[in-house]
Amino acid sequence: MVAVGQFRCPRHYFGHGAVRTVELHVFVDASQSAFAAVAYWRVTYEDDNVMVSFVCAKTKGAPMRTMSIPRLELQAAVLGTRLMNTVQEEHSVDISETVLWTDSKTVLRWFGSTHRRYKQFVGNRVAEILESSKVSQWRWVPTAENAADDATRSQNKADLSPESRWLSGPAFLRQPASGWPAPEEGTKRVPDAPEEGTKRVPDAPDEEEMPGEFALMAADEFAIPFQRFSSFSRLVRTTAWVLRFARWCRKQRSEIEEYALTASECEAAENLLVRQAQLESFPDEMRSAECGKDVASSSDIRGLAPYVDEHGVLRVYGRVDAALCMPYSARRPVILSHRHSLMDLIVRHFHAQMKHQNVDATIAQIRTRFWVTKMRRVLKEVISSCNECKLQRTRPLPPITGPLPEDRLEAGGWPFKYTGLDYFGPLLVTVSRHREKRWVALFTCLTTRAIHLELAHDLSTDSCIIAMRNFVCRRGPVHRLRSDNGKNFVGADREAKRFGDVFETERIQSELSSRSIEWDFNCPSNPSEGEVWERMVQCVKRVLRHTLKEVAPRVHVLESFLIEAENVVNSRPLTHLPVDADQEAPLTPNDLLKGAANLPNTPGLDAELPKEGSTRKQWRIARMLRDRFWRRWVLEYLPTLVRRE
Ligand SMILES: [Zn+2]
Repeated sequence: MVAVGQFRCPRHYFGHGAVRTVELHVFVDASQSAFAAVAYWRVTYEDDNVMVSFVCAKTKGAPMRTMSIPRLELQAAVLGTRLMNTVQEEHSVDISETVLWTDSKTVLRWFGSTHRRYKQFVGNRVAEILESSKVSQWRWVPTAENAADDATRSQNKADLSPESRWLSGPAFLRQPASGWPAPEEGTKRVPDAPEEGTKRVPDAPDEEEMPGEFALMAADEFAIPFQRFSSFSRLVRTTAWVLRFARWCRKQRSEIEEYALTASECEAAENLLVRQAQLESFPDEMRSAECGKDVASSSDIRGLAPYVDEHGVLRVYGRVDAALCMPYSARRPVILSHRHSLMDLIVRHFHAQMKHQNVDATIAQIRTRFWVTKMRRVLKEVISSCNECKLQRTRPLPPITGPLPEDRLEAGGWPFKYTGLDYFGPLLVTVSRHREKRWVALFTCLTTRAIHLELAHDLSTDSCIIAMRNFVCRRGPVHRLRSDNGKNFVGADREAKRFGDVFETERIQSELSSRSIEWDFNCPSNPSEGEVWERMVQCVKRVLRHTLKEVAPRVHVLESFLIEAENVVNSRPLTHLPVDADQEAPLTPNDLLKGAANLPNTPGLDAELPKEGSTRKQWRIARMLRDRFWRRWVLEYLPTLVRRE
């Protein structure tokens, strides 16, 4: 203790002269009672003089519980690494190299190993050490040369003079690097030599290593359980990966297998699965087919003339073999049993591929690859358990619709007895050299759903009355006229307005009542009342708007066009379209209006649009508009037919 009081350590690190390089050397060591780390500067001057000076040291008592020496050495290495970090952080000196020295070969081997199968204690500490140091920075030093060794054992006569090894560093450091202990000595698998004076636990590096866990299993049954898969393609791909793994284990590796699965690998996997399923379902048939014998008469697949192909798969010897236009798999489909769980996966796969539609098309699709016993039954089972199909089949409970109005149910009346009125516009027309706006009054028969289009000069009450009078004169007596009182009109001020805001309702009312026409002016509150009418009107309006976009025809051309458009709409089928040749032509509004079916002179869908240069002649414009309307109408109207119940 007296010696401690006299301990003196120089405050300066370096002597005189220009410094070339500064190296940091950290020594670590551990014994049963303590572990320590000590850091030195190794300074090389311009005149090749080398000076070693003490930086700092750290000692810790060993933990009370017994710990193996390699673990304590590792603990010392952790201490040394932390000391190194502190020295590096706290000094502004430019350190050219850092070397960490230990006398434990076990610890060095832990650092250098490429696997990471160590127990948690070792694994965590090695990870911490290698976070701030490289494996190449760690070197082995004989215990006798290890300066940190001084701090790990009790000594009666400690040398604390400035010339001691503790303060001036080990002697080899003052020599050039070639004279240092060889680094490769430390990496050899030699157990640490037991030291004198301390009782050393023999090195047991394998204790720290986690034993590898391998098990060799030989199984007779098929390795891939079909039941654990819910998708056929996933099963095929998994099998293909397993096959690739097995091939790689046998060193049969081809170059194209670097990346994802190839088509031929998937095919091989599918063949394997199918063969396995066949072996499970038709063991006897497989055996007799392989010997070239006929299958037993009790078999499910008698009469199919099964044979085994080069992949060992049972196929139908097809009667349609000569049909070379069909793919091989369709001419000689693979036989599968409806009882096997693979079949369930395959049917599910095709069912999803056909987007859960059409049983017959799905069966045809499966037939191109597989011949399945009792296929329809399997497919029905799949469909009845398919969640998506269940969702599609489920319909929300329809709201209870109100009773249909009298207008919609009238039979034995005449067209336009009950009529809806709508306005459409504005449309641009060319008058002499400028453009003007026109509107279209759209009358819809609520019973037959025929339409009548009347050109209105403007949005005045007068022209509305004129349009109504024209309509009534041409389409016979009207019993009741309904008009939608929604905000359908966009006036000069760009604001949506109601029918009643635009026209003088009193004048219209008196005009209509003088012709004994009831006027129902309110917007229908019963959805089933306005539904069909509204949808049709919207459709006509949309098609008209598209057809007349950017075209400002002359007034008489527009009038002619409206009559043509009216005819097109009125020739649409009211009943379902005929599918067979012997079915009757569908009923159209024109049948009811004209008493005769429409003449089939409607333009074809593929009629060419006239060139722009030829539009000088007004009849050509009229025809062009008519063709465009027709085209558009077919596109817009036909889809709505599908939805009609
Ligand atoms: Zn489905």
